[in-house]
Parts: sequence; C-alpha cells; structure tokens
Amino acid sequence: MTNPADAGHNVVLAVPHPAPLNPRGITITCTMCEAARDWLLIHVRPDLVFVRCRCTHEWREHDLGAANGTVARGADGDEREWETFEQMYRGLGFDGLLAGTVWNLS
Ligand SMILES: [Zn+2]
Repeated sequence: MTNPADAGHNVVLAVPHPAPLNPRGITITCTMCEAARDWLLIHVRPDLVFVRCRCTHEWREHDLGAANGTVARGADGDEREWETFEQMYRGLGFDGLLAGTVWNLS
C-alpha cells in the first residue's frame, strides 16, 4: 500500500498535526517542499500512518505506527468522518491551495 486512498473505507482517522514530528528524535520534513510542520496524519487500520503535507505530498511514515497511536489521534481527539479523500483534503486545507503558506508565516 503506497497511498492511503487504497485503504478505502478502512481509514479511521485523519488528524491535523500543526506541530513538528520527530518520532525518533529526527524532525520529519517533506521531501517535496521541505516543510517541517503542519501535517495531516492519516491513520489506517491496523497500523499504518501516512503523513500528508500542505503541498499534497504524502507518504507512509513507518515510525508512526500503533506505538504512536496517541500522536496519530491528536491531543484533543477531534475526529471527523469524510465521504471521500478529496472532501477530506479540501475540508482540512490539504488540497494544495495552502502549499507554501508555512514559509509565508515565518
Ligand atoms: Zn510538502
């Protein structure tokens, strides 16, 4: 599985994660735009976590598995279901329109 959309209805959580992630003491960065924060974490049963960047680049992050379930769920447990990935990405601002906004703020 290389794309969270392949999981279909098995997707259980999609949680915005504004802070940096450093599961092994190394901060995760986007290989496409070099962003280092402001992720969307997509948690797929049973133990897959994908990271999606504002630039729409997404990848499976092996270091964020079940052991980091609390990270994937987010601090406030704010959960919401979406009909499609496209709606989810658009609703959460991860459809590419906000790509690069991280740098405009700094
Ligand atoms: Zn990016």
